[in-house]
Amino acid sequence: MPSSSIIPPGATIGILGGGQLGRMTALAAARLGYRCLVYAPDEHSVAAEVAAGHVRGDYDDAAALARFATQVDVITYEFENVPEGAVLECEKLRPVRPGVKPIHFAQHRLREKDFLRKLGIGTADYQPIRSAADVTAASALPGILKTCTEGYDGKGQARVTDRAELAAAWERLGRRECILEALVAFQCEVSAIVARGLDGETRCFPIGINSHRDGILRTTTVPADLSAETLATAERFGIQLAQGLDLVGLVALEMFVTPEGAVLANEMAPRPHNSGHWTIDACATSQFEQLVRAICGLPLGSVDVLAPSRMENLIGDEANGWPRYLAEPEARLHLYGKGKARPGRKMGHVTYVQRSAR
Ligand code: AMP
Repeated sequence: MPSSSIIPPGATIGILGGGQLGRMTALAAARLGYRCLVYAPDEHSVAAEVAAGHVRGDYDDAAALARFATQVDVITYEFENVPEGAVLECEKLRPVRPGVKPIHFAQHRLREKDFLRKLGIGTADYQPIRSAADVTAASALPGILKTCTEGYDGKGQARVTDRAELAAAWERLGRRECILEALVAFQCEVSAIVARGLDGETRCFPIGINSHRDGILRTTTVPADLSAETLATAERFGIQLAQGLDLVGLVALEMFVTPEGAVLANEMAPRPHNSGHWTIDACATSQFEQLVRAICGLPLGSVDVLAPSRMENLIGDEANGWPRYLAEPEARLHLYGKGKARPGRKMGHVTYVQRSAR
């Protein structure tokens, strides 16, 4: 049920998904006077804990989705693996922003790369791996073999140097449909987070430089110490993507920058992104507020950087270091209220905001 009308403060936003991105969206929405209702299957949702309510249901439970949708004015999602069917069910009753198109591409790495290329956005060489014949003919080597679906934070991936390793890795991944991407010897990784409003206006947050370990984002630093040309290309790719998706909401595009200055897109996420958490403490508008503004048809906010900053993820038991972060004057601590600190689990983040000279 698409609608072009403004959804004013006081209305209720539905969020599909109950994790930390939903939590930070609900907190930003509350600041602007909105209520949030979270739809998530689990009993414990860190988003629902800070929202007005929680509808529990599976993503294929049409009745529960309808009960959720009829209680809200607009719906968004906080993770891109929400099944397309759930979004389509919700769309029968309320506008879902961004809609089904972004997740259609974001949920499948081959579709995603083909779409990026079609939009004129650079990527590394890649090829589908669907059969033993594809393995024998593979040329994007050395490379990274990734399952087309259900991989995140480096899961469902294997680095391979030759066809023998590729064959073994494909076996280990259960001979599933995969994409083989040429290994990029990058100088750094960056991301562009772009908001697109109901009126088609786009705004890109300043590009951040990201570092990863074991496939998981560790830090984002802003401003990015890169040439004006590289930054402009990264920003342009992000905006081309938001426009190509006809998206109302947010999209993040992760990219590699090569030593020669080429910018190659890696993957997209049509939602707030971990590499945009610095915006809460060091940007005029946070990415979460920007999402709320976009999906409610409000004017987009300023993306001015307030101070140089570095965001560090707190993964697993790193979050136990909270007393230390609280004692540091430059540190802004965010904990997600998750129970158990399992290895690899994102428990919180801390943003170091450079203090201005007094
Ligand atoms: P992904 O799950 O695709 O985001 O990959 C996780 C991380 O693995 C990326 O942020 C990179 O650090 C690394 N990576 C993924 N694809 C490539 C590639 N084609 N070349 C080099 N590094 C990659």
